[in-house]
Amino acid sequence: MNDRILIDSVVSTLRDVLGTERSAIALHEPLFQGNEWAYVKECLDSGWVSSVGKYVDRFEAKLAEYTGSPHAIAVVNGTAALHLSLLLAGVETGDEVLAPAMSFVATGNAVAYCGAIPHWVDSSPLTLGLDPEKLADYLEDIAEVSPTGCRNRRTGRRIKAVIAMHTFGHPIDLEPLLALCERFRLELIEDAAESLGSFYKGRHTGTWGRLAALSFNGNKVMTTGGGGAVLTHDPVLAKQAKHLSTTAKAPHRWAFNHDQVAFNYRMPNLNAALGCAQLEQLEGFIAWKRRLAGAYAQAFEGLEGVAFFEEPSFARSNYWLNAILLDPSLSGSRDPLLDATNEQGIMTRPVWTLMHRLPMYKDCPRMDLSVAENLESRLINLPSSAVLGRQDVEA
Ligand SMILES: *Cc1c(COP(=O)(O)O)cnc(C)c1O
Repeated sequence: MNDRILIDSVVSTLRDVLGTERSAIALHEPLFQGNEWAYVKECLDSGWVSSVGKYVDRFEAKLAEYTGSPHAIAVVNGTAALHLSLLLAGVETGDEVLAPAMSFVATGNAVAYCGAIPHWVDSSPLTLGLDPEKLADYLEDIAEVSPTGCRNRRTGRRIKAVIAMHTFGHPIDLEPLLALCERFRLELIEDAAESLGSFYKGRHTGTWGRLAALSFNGNKVMTTGGGGAVLTHDPVLAKQAKHLSTTAKAPHRWAFNHDQVAFNYRMPNLNAALGCAQLEQLEGFIAWKRRLAGAYAQAFEGLEGVAFFEEPSFARSNYWLNAILLDPSLSGSRDPLLDATNEQGIMTRPVWTLMHRLPMYKDCPRMDLSVAENLESRLINLPSSAVLGRQDVEA
C-alpha cells in the first residue's frame, strides 16, 4: 500500500467517526457542563480560594470514594503527586527506580527530583505499559536480592521501586507485577495520571501499589485546571503526604513551626471546586469516551494495515487517548499521516519520544527496549474528547 491510499483511507475513516461539520478537532478538550460555575463562584464569594477550604476536603473525600482508595491527598499537579509518592516510598538519592521508557517525561522527572536514577523498562504490546514477564527475566539477570532489598549487580546501586504507568488509560497487567515486586523486594508506585476511571480486574488503578499519582491537567479525563492527587491505603503515609505537601507545618492557631524541608504542593480550593463538579460528571465522560472508542474500533476494523488499540481483556479502560497502530511495514507512513491529518484540522499525535532518547536521560541504565521502540515507530493518537462520543453531538 502506498502513502496516498493509506492516508486517504485513514482520513475518510476518521471523518466517518468524527463527522464533517467540525473544522478543527482537538486531541482532547475539557467539557464543563455541570456545577463548575456554581462551585467556583461560591469560592470567590466566600473568599476561600487558596489552599484551605471545604472543596479541598470534599474533593479528597469524593476521590477516595470513587477510586476505593482509603486516602486521597489533593496536590498542585500529577508530577508533584508522583514526586511525593516516590519520596514516601523511601526512594533516596542514588537509588534506581524502574520506569517505562514509553511515558510522559514527568514519570522520569519525578524520579530525578528525588536524586534517584530512572532505569528504563520495555513495554508490552498487549497493554502499551510495562511488561512484567520481560522485566522479571531481566531482573533475574541483573539483580541481587537480599534481606535489605534489591541491588543492581552492574551498577552496584539499590533498586528501590518500580513505577507502573497505565498508558492512555489502559491498565497494565498488575498481578504479575505485584508478584515480581514481592520477589525482588521492590515498592510499587502507580503513575495513574492517565487512568482515573480505569479498573483492573474490577479494582481501580492506583489502588494496587503502595502509593499512586493521579493528574487533573486540562487534557486528562477530567480536570481541575491543574492538579493531581496521591492515593494510598496507608494512613501513616497519607498523613505524611499531607504534611509534606503543606510545608511540614505543625498545626497551630498562630505559630509557624515546620519540622522538615517540605513542599508547597497543596491544591488550591478554587481548583478543588472545579474538581468536585467534574468528578460528578466523570462516569458520563467515560461512557462517551468508551462509545467513541467503540465507533473507532468498528470503523477501523475493515481497514487493512491499521489496528485500533483496544483495552486488555482484564480491564475496563477510560480510553483517555485513542490510538491506532500501523502495520510494522507501514511505519514509514506515520509522519506523512500525522502531517495530512493535522493539515485537515484533525489533531493527531505520535507517542512521546522515548525517555532514553531525551538528552537528560540517555545515559540512564536500561533493558532491551525493542518493543517500545517498535510501538513508537507506528503509533498515532486520535482525537479523544468525551464530547465526540456524546449521542446528541453526532454527525
Ligand atoms: C499527565 C501525566 C503526568 C503528570 O501530570 P501533570 O498534572 O501534568 O503534572 C504524569 N505522568 C503521566 C504518564 C501523565 O500522562
